[in-house]
Amino acid sequence: MTAARLRNTGRFLRPANSGSAEYTINNVRELIRLMDPAARTAAPIRPAGAGSSCTGCNSTPAGTVISIAGLDNILNIDTFNNTVSAQGGVRLYRLVEALAEHGLELVGAHELAGRTLGGAIAAPSMGPGIGQRSSCLASRVLNVKLVTPGGKLMKVSAGQKDLMGAVRSSYGLLGVIVEATLRVQPTANFTASHRKLTIDDFCSVVDTLSNNEVGFKFYLLPYRDRVYLDLRRYSESAGHTYRTPWKIKDWGESTVLPNLFKSFNRLLPLHSVRYQVIDTVSEATQGIVNGRFVTTGNNTLAGSSGRNFSRTRNLLYSTWCFPAADFSVVARAYRQFCQQSYANSRYRCDMPAVGYYVHRDRSAFLSPSFDEPMIALQTSSTQASGWEDFVIDLADFAEHWAGVPLFNQTRSLRADYARQVYSVRLDYFRKVRRQLDPEDRLLTPFMAQYFQ
Ligand SMILES: Cc1cc2nc3c(=O)[nH]c(=O)nc-3n(C[C@H](O)[C@H](O)[C@H](O)COP(=O)(O)OP(=O)(O)OC[C@H]3O[C@@H](n4cnc5c(N)ncnc54)[C@H](O)[C@@H]3O)c2cc1C
Repeated sequence: MTAARLRNTGRFLRPANSGSAEYTINNVRELIRLMDPAARTAAPIRPAGAGSSCTGCNSTPAGTVISIAGLDNILNIDTFNNTVSAQGGVRLYRLVEALAEHGLELVGAHELAGRTLGGAIAAPSMGPGIGQRSSCLASRVLNVKLVTPGGKLMKVSAGQKDLMGAVRSSYGLLGVIVEATLRVQPTANFTASHRKLTIDDFCSVVDTLSNNEVGFKFYLLPYRDRVYLDLRRYSESAGHTYRTPWKIKDWGESTVLPNLFKSFNRLLPLHSVRYQVIDTVSEATQGIVNGRFVTTGNNTLAGSSGRNFSRTRNLLYSTWCFPAADFSVVARAYRQFCQQSYANSRYRCDMPAVGYYVHRDRSAFLSPSFDEPMIALQTSSTQASGWEDFVIDLADFAEHWAGVPLFNQTRSLRADYARQVYSVRLDYFRKVRRQLDPEDRLLTPFMAQYFQ
């Protein structure tokens, strides 16, 4: 007899925020008062940044959500030591702009600049890095201040390796991050070149790319058998960089495409016609906007996209990381999975999947690339009907191909699988969590599945 597996519809994982109180904090003393157990703030308490995660990690059906959006001061930019100190509610684009005035930039191209510094440290914030530099923002954190679940201010520095390793990617379970100091770098220009390939051709070069000093990002269209590859290399001769092409690219990707596709989904009832049009528009956007205009850049320009996060709020997405060494096989299997799933369910994503290379990063216990370099693959769509079933099938596919999930970006993640993947690192993290939060004040039912 085969064991029946209940389908996780995802509904439990994203409960409505109906019964929770919400606070927006403007100063640290106010937060300390709120977190003090004597204040009897309704538990569970969830810290929230910009809310760009797609799981229940930043919300709670009951209890309290604390946003630190009001803690948004940039405290110091040290041009001698190349560091920046800022409060946790600062949006990345403000940080990027302030650094640019001093000829500095974040290490790694961190798009979706509307997210907060606290959220980008507490949850993985990865981007296509160039060379052997880690592309996870939290890996650059030198010290951090948090308000603990017991209502105390705690400072952690990079010298406290184990504790810092737990605080990076701690998903708001160890306390609320109110301030951080990060290592940054002088602005370095790169060239961006573009290739249009079939998926098989992409598979034949992806290993070489992974082993080279090149940063790469790609847009994968499984139903067109097409990959648009964006290759970035640091170069003295990159010459002038221009803001306008990056702005057009951002506008095209985060506003025009999702809105157009939503309209097509409404106006074109015939699947065959609708998807023909959608894929043609996707290809044209990649070919014209990215391929022709965006030829040089730096992390400041690449990191200025997605500042108006509300425009992408309706975009559904789920991200899995796959070992870079296996990706030539995984990409082919992903094409087959998408085609088969469309044939079976008549559901398919309308947006291209976006992928990028993530360097090995051992700076956080819950780093998705702790053991080896990964390729992050973000599957996204504007179509809600059928999405929850699709992401369950996607999770099955990803488990089969040794996918590594992210607790804030992976939909329909099974707790058993997360425990299997993160294993002793998760055990260690849970131990630290229990020490800092013995009363489970920051633990919601959603988080308890993985971290109890
Ligand atoms: C269109 C789109 C593109 C994206 N692209 C990428 C990408 O390229 N790379 C990537 O890594 N991610 C990406 N993401 C996912 C997401 O933006 C990041 O993980 C981001 O770092 C989350 O930041 P946030 O401020 O929105 O935090 P939230 O989503 O609000 O919170 C994330 C987690 O951090 C905790 N948290 C938030 N603030 C604090 C704090 N001050 N102290 C303690 N805990 C806190 C929350 O409790 C929650 O567990 C994308 C999302 C979207 C919608």
